[in-house]
Amino acid sequence: MDSLPMSMDKDSLQQLLSEIDTVLLDCDGVLWRGAQGMDLIPRANEVFTRLQNMGKNVFLITNNSTKTQDSYYDKCRTLGFSVERDHILSAPYILAQYLREINFRRKVYVVGAPGLAQELQKVGVPCTGVGAEKIEGSIYSALAQGSLGLDPQVGAVAVGFDREFNYDKIVRATSYLADPECLFLATNTDEKYIVTGTRYHLPAAGVLVNTIQKASGRTPQIMGKPSLNMFYMLQARYNVQPEKTLIIGDTLHTDILFGNECGMWTVLVLSGVSTLQEARQLTVGQDPQKQKQVPLFYLQSIADILTLMDEPDNQQVNDQAH
Ligand SMILES: [Mg+2]
Repeated sequence: MDSLPMSMDKDSLQQLLSEIDTVLLDCDGVLWRGAQGMDLIPRANEVFTRLQNMGKNVFLITNNSTKTQDSYYDKCRTLGFSVERDHILSAPYILAQYLREINFRRKVYVVGAPGLAQELQKVGVPCTGVGAEKIEGSIYSALAQGSLGLDPQVGAVAVGFDREFNYDKIVRATSYLADPECLFLATNTDEKYIVTGTRYHLPAAGVLVNTIQKASGRTPQIMGKPSLNMFYMLQARYNVQPEKTLIIGDTLHTDILFGNECGMWTVLVLSGVSTLQEARQLTVGQDPQKQKQVPLFYLQSIADILTLMDEPDNQQVNDQAH
């Protein structure tokens, strides 16, 4: 990838749709947005249905670390997306499925939201750590006396977004990770949530993951994009082939990087995090790492897919003109 992203036109969309059988849609910034994530991007649900009616296998893939697959399913139904439950892959779901597949039999210390713990419990993995953690009394004495309240059953630390994140949690997570046998898993490494309409952003899960990583000196296994874990699951369960797959996302360093790393077709929509200027800037200097984040095409919004599909083709326009 060494060229500028292209604006998609009707011909390139038709060509692309003839090549692919699978579509991966990021959620926030592509299908919906807003503080509660309940503002539907206009016509996004119609695009979803149209792609399904064309026989495409459509999946939703999200790095959101706080929600379960079930809660996403309910949200999708509310917003008019006729998605099947097992076609929703969120980072907590991937993390839980990973532990199920490796036949993990111990407990997980969760630095994360209740949704992450619920996803683990669904696959029969017990958890501890959700909510405010407090080590009583002097932390120095607790450490010296071995009374940090560590659970000997814990065999993994899982980190996602956690509103209750505090110093005592860092101490406990770090102490578990002092055992090299203890797994270190993270939902995602996104560092910001953009709050539309303000100049502020919220620090996201990646900031907490970085903290535990620094404190423990360990490197986590990441489950969300741009890590390839989501793709491995899609490949194993649904035989998804990257050259026949399109990913549509709003974030260059997660969605588009993931798509390019897998060898998929990539489309950036400009309704979320990343801008066209940022995408173009990545091509300057020919840095191969940056070029992996450059999309093949861009669209203002996912709704443009319908506009392009419904546009009369050039031949018809010419015929009508005569
Ligand atoms: Mg997004």
